[in-house]
Amino acid sequence: MSCNYADGLSPYENKGKLGLAEKFDSKDEVTEKVSKLATWIQEAKHVVVHTGAGISTAAGIPDFRGPKGVWTMEAKGLKPEKDISFKDAIPTTTHMALVKLAEAGKISYVVSQNIDGLHMRSGLPRSHISELHGNVFVERCDRCERQVVLAAPSATVGQKKSGRDCKWGRGGRICRGQMRDTILDWEHGLPDDELALADYHSCLADLSITLGTTLQIVPSGNLPLSTKKFGGRLVICNLQPTKHDEKADLIIHCYVDELMNMLMKALNIPIPEYDPTKDPTLSSENEKNDWTVERRNVKKMQKLYEEMKNKKGVVKRKLKKIEHEDKKIKKEDCSEEIKKELCEGESPANIIIKNEAIPDCGIP
Ligand SMILES: [Zn+2]
Repeated sequence: MSCNYADGLSPYENKGKLGLAEKFDSKDEVTEKVSKLATWIQEAKHVVVHTGAGISTAAGIPDFRGPKGVWTMEAKGLKPEKDISFKDAIPTTTHMALVKLAEAGKISYVVSQNIDGLHMRSGLPRSHISELHGNVFVERCDRCERQVVLAAPSATVGQKKSGRDCKWGRGGRICRGQMRDTILDWEHGLPDDELALADYHSCLADLSITLGTTLQIVPSGNLPLSTKKFGGRLVICNLQPTKHDEKADLIIHCYVDELMNMLMKALNIPIPEYDPTKDPTLSSENEKNDWTVERRNVKKMQKLYEEMKNKKGVVKRKLKKIEHEDKKIKKEDCSEEIKKELCEGESPANIIIKNEAIPDCGIP
């Protein structure tokens, strides 16, 4: 059962706030908020979605800190009522809507704390996801870092040896590494490449949407704040309060599947059904079963991030100079102009490279 995964982790006391009361917006409030979100998605150039356990509860997998979550029930000496096996769970409306949004170019990246593998099984391409806490259907070689998709969930958690040798090799040499599960235990650091990609995308995003997470686990829960730091918007959809509610531009209290159904209608994009032929856990083709993060993607995103940071640094210095030279011009007005200039074009990352001229706010 899926909640047995939690039993496999080491004992840990600081599990955050558990069982906080859930809040539900009225139907009218949700309608109004969804319409605003749809407009923001249409306007945005780089959208990142951050997902937590709340998006998989509809698949029968219990969350952790919800009123009936694993840790909430554990604190009462109980087990969650709903508990399906990872193998029997299938991607939810939210997972399927996200695949379609990625395909339609409406979202650029998904950062997930979930280990259930449902994003992968929904058909979301590897280039579009960081699984920060691991994936029960993936194992990794401890030598060459190759990741492969498994047909059944791994028997262990905590990055233990599966007993299988790495079958991959380079230049005619077979790798002598051992395969291990990818599930993080409390004391483990996050996988470098996945975290780097999640971080770069969050910084480059002009809109971050968090779905079904209380954002209590660090660093995963803090990544959406990077979008705010670089001038983007933050939208939170969760039933319980989250750690970063006061920083959000919009908070929607409703079930994530309800939100996605309404959002996709507003965007006029149909939500596909789960398609087993696109589920790599059910495929025997080697090509589909490779789940390794591509280094060139990490390098590409790093370059875009550094260029964006330099560009914004130059704009910031320019703003300070303007402020110093002409006290009559308010920094905020000017900053809005510059932000507008910077946000016109294909994607924020692209403009930042192409647009060499720095807007001068009309000052001679
Ligand atoms: Zn290897």
